[in-house]
Amino acid sequence: MDFSVEPEFARRMDADDPLAALRERFVIHDPDEIYLDGNSLGRLPRPVMDALRDAVERQWGQRLIRGWNEGWIHLPRRLGERIAPLIGAQPHEVLVSEGTSINLFKLALAALRVRPGRHKIVSDVFNFPGDLYILQGIVDLLGEEYRLELIPSRDGVHIHPDDVAAAIDEDTALVALTHVAFKSAFMYDMQAVTEQAHQAGALMLWDLCHSVGAVPLELNACDVDLAVGCTYKYLNGGPGSPAFLYVRADLISQLQSPLWGWFAAARPFDFDLDFIPVQDISRFRAGTIPVLSMLALEASLDVFSGVDMNALRARSVQLSEYLLYLADQWLLPLGFEVGSPRDPARRGSHISLRHSEGFRITRALIEAPPPKVRVIPDFRAPDNIRLGISPLYTTFEEIYRALSRLREIVETGEYEAYSAERQAVT
Ligand SMILES: *Cc1c(COP(=O)(O)O)cnc(C)c1O
Repeated sequence: MDFSVEPEFARRMDADDPLAALRERFVIHDPDEIYLDGNSLGRLPRPVMDALRDAVERQWGQRLIRGWNEGWIHLPRRLGERIAPLIGAQPHEVLVSEGTSINLFKLALAALRVRPGRHKIVSDVFNFPGDLYILQGIVDLLGEEYRLELIPSRDGVHIHPDDVAAAIDEDTALVALTHVAFKSAFMYDMQAVTEQAHQAGALMLWDLCHSVGAVPLELNACDVDLAVGCTYKYLNGGPGSPAFLYVRADLISQLQSPLWGWFAAARPFDFDLDFIPVQDISRFRAGTIPVLSMLALEASLDVFSGVDMNALRARSVQLSEYLLYLADQWLLPLGFEVGSPRDPARRGSHISLRHSEGFRITRALIEAPPPKVRVIPDFRAPDNIRLGISPLYTTFEEIYRALSRLREIVETGEYEAYSAERQAVT
């Protein structure tokens, strides 16, 4: 595709794209605020507002405890069935409960228990630190023979397939990787890596936090054993919305969650004194669920109805390639570097632009008073400005305006007015 630096080009791309209308399914409170952080917290889908009003006024306000039998109790499975088609899984292989960190703990420990005699967990240096902490905690819990080995990166952007192959061996029980890296957006070949893990006799666990909702996923076709992922990023489930987990059908009854919660029991309301786990995916539930967050998530998934994930991915790639085109024309001469893979097949749906003044530039993007356009990306140390592309609602014109602002901020030295002091959440 031939891009152009003219603003009319962006407007024409939006006007000609049938998927651009999906943006109307979201609340856009200020069209002059450009939100490029949907990979951290997705925008508010319109159907959520009515659903939450009903959840509070009618379901909680009027139905009270009866709500549990009127549907709340089945939310973890019901939502799992809604997420299954987005990840290429069968409806009974997916469950929504707790958060990603906790689901990772449950599945990783369950996996290690069925690979006795093997003591290595393989992950990589790009993994989300929170995932690595969970894995480190598991190693600490299991004792000295266990260890976590991290696949290195040669260039800070990609992981080389040879380095993956070198790390997985006969002692490997579990390969636990994030499919799309949170910083560089590097994306693994899921099929190839899963096959490598299986050839060595290890189980494969993918974290899909930065893929689901933006990248088509085929867990069954890739023969993936286990997966976890959050719902508040490209799935737009709302702040702190509960996460999902996936266990391949034949493994469900073989694996046992280390958290023997009462909702994982075969008959929770028998209040039996001894734990007998249920046989289906609900055996990975723990305790009482956050019903309001789950109802918000359920309504948020409506925005995916009728959406072809391959078409959505094509839009994400086109928006990303356009962003890179503008970065090449305008930003690289100003000291920026591209911190994401150039090959779209190896890249998720965000682009990291690196600059030594990245933090202050990010502040200028977010804080500059009107009439300047406000742009909201996020910043990941030491120098990554992450620009998230949510193909359901990000437009070409927004990319154009955001990159124009980046150019202006650096060209004029506008960022020098901002201090380098950090806030708690960047
Ligand atoms: C966002 C993210 C998480 C978040 O985990 P929580 O338990 O929801 O805090 C975990 N892993 C990855 C790869 C993420 O991108």
